[in-house]
Amino acid sequence: MAETRLAAGPTISPAFVKELQGAISASQVLAEPEDRYLYGYDGTFHQSRPDVVVKAMSTKDVSAVMRLAYKHGVPVTPRGAGTGLSGGSVPLAGGVVLATQPMNHIVELRKEDSLVVIEPGVVTGQLHRYVEARGLYYPPDPQSADFCTMGGNIAENSSGPHGLKYGTTRDYLLGLEVVLPDGDVIRVGGRTIKNVTGFDLTRLFCSSEGMLGVVTQATIKLIPKPEAKVVLMAVFNDWGAGGQAVADIIAEGILPSSLEIMDDICIKAAENYGHFGLPVGAGALLVIEVDGFQESMERQAAMIADVCRKAGAIDVQAAHDPARQTDLWRARKVLNPATSRLAPIRVAEDVTVPRSKVPELVVRLKDVGREIGLPVVVYGHAGDGNLHPGILTDHRDPDKWERARRGIELFFKNAVALGGTLSGEHGVGYMKSPFLPLEYSDRAIQLMRDIKNTVDPKGVLNPAKMFPDARNPMQAAHGGGAAEATAATAAANAATSTPKAGE
Ligand SMILES: Cc1cc2nc3c(=O)[nH]c(=O)nc-3n(C[C@H](O)[C@H](O)[C@H](O)COP(=O)(O)OP(=O)(O)OC[C@H]3O[C@@H](n4cnc5c(N)ncnc54)[C@H](O)[C@@H]3O)c2cc1C
Repeated sequence: MAETRLAAGPTISPAFVKELQGAISASQVLAEPEDRYLYGYDGTFHQSRPDVVVKAMSTKDVSAVMRLAYKHGVPVTPRGAGTGLSGGSVPLAGGVVLATQPMNHIVELRKEDSLVVIEPGVVTGQLHRYVEARGLYYPPDPQSADFCTMGGNIAENSSGPHGLKYGTTRDYLLGLEVVLPDGDVIRVGGRTIKNVTGFDLTRLFCSSEGMLGVVTQATIKLIPKPEAKVVLMAVFNDWGAGGQAVADIIAEGILPSSLEIMDDICIKAAENYGHFGLPVGAGALLVIEVDGFQESMERQAAMIADVCRKAGAIDVQAAHDPARQTDLWRARKVLNPATSRLAPIRVAEDVTVPRSKVPELVVRLKDVGREIGLPVVVYGHAGDGNLHPGILTDHRDPDKWERARRGIELFFKNAVALGGTLSGEHGVGYMKSPFLPLEYSDRAIQLMRDIKNTVDPKGVLNPAKMFPDARNPMQAAHGGGAAEATAATAAANAATSTPKAGE
């Protein structure tokens, strides 16, 4: 794992640490080398150690830390479980990592209003189990749900297979409590389904990647738990036919709750990983879930099976048995670790296109692999146009790394050319910031910077993320490919405030 640090030495002074320990409990401030190491990485491959880690137990703690950091100009990186795949919680500028994971209480459930109030450290899967046991449902289901936190989900606007039918995290956010960079605490949104009072700040903070404020509480909308579900597995010899079936299902007017695709490499990798009974040797596999009233299950499943067969499926199986359904979902869930162990690293992206373009995208992503001469594995939430192409490579080999770097650039260029986006759910972080100008005009990026500078004029909260920035390790790596981006934003970078060393 590559280590990066913008500042050469510590960005904080012993006096700052002392003040920090005075403002909250000293036992919540961790500064041992192993603590700093453990809180210096996420699911990406650059690491950068913070000077201290603070474990927040309450909104009061978060406010006290931010107030102090703001006063001294010390960088603060909020952190949930560190499962992010765009580098959002990697403390590139050192300073403080502010862990909100210990704030993990479910504060209130109001069944009559179909809402739940939670702290940011609640693990997403824990929330699923809690509300489902009470007949309610929270659909966003990142595949990391067993360990990621709701704070991270809100900051990234995470989603998962259920995004197709049910939308993403932001669709369930009614209100937030947020600590601003200067330590002030605000509440945005509320408890009502409808709310158009003022600008929609709830949505602004959602997917702001920990750069505008620290989420300390969230009010979440719930829906009734669907009565029944069926999971189908459709097998294709041909990868392109699998992609076409995705578009055909949507075009037919059917709305499954999930529609996932995996390629031949994924099928083999998942089967080796967990023995789920997948058809090793097939070119593409669709895992399709339909849910709703029991009476509609057979009909929905039959319609989907019919479309898949017409698109070239050689086998379609419907799992009604919960154990088989769980197995199929586990096969999908293990794809990240199962494919990651096929090479020293798997560089994974999450490009997204309009759904009608999925058949073209699946072909183009494989073409990229041929062009760069490295294996490209593809899986993802194909039903909502969101695919995770990954390049199997070795970052220690300069030639292979350079080819992978070029592959990433080609993924993005292809997605944008098809009317899509660089990221459907993982966010920009430091990994994708060099490519922001591929999708947005200078004026649009400047507006985003202006918002950041208004909320955080000292630039203390999660610096060097989202915007093209010469200090970002990926900016250097993508120097050639993102040259236009670098030039177009150089002036803006110079004007952006940078954190000063703490006194
Ligand atoms: C195996 C695997 C599968 C995954 N599958 C999916 C998937 O299907 N869909 C998907 O969307 N993502 C997926 N991810 C990515 C990741 O799990 C999500 O982005 C998740 O939301 C990150 O949550 P976290 O608690 O780990 O946050 P972290 O990684 O710790 O942080 C992510 C971002 O949130 C910010 N943040 C964290 N807490 C707060 C807070 N309280 N206030 C403000 N900002 C905060 C951080 O600063 C950072 O910018 C996957 C990751 C892995 C490793």
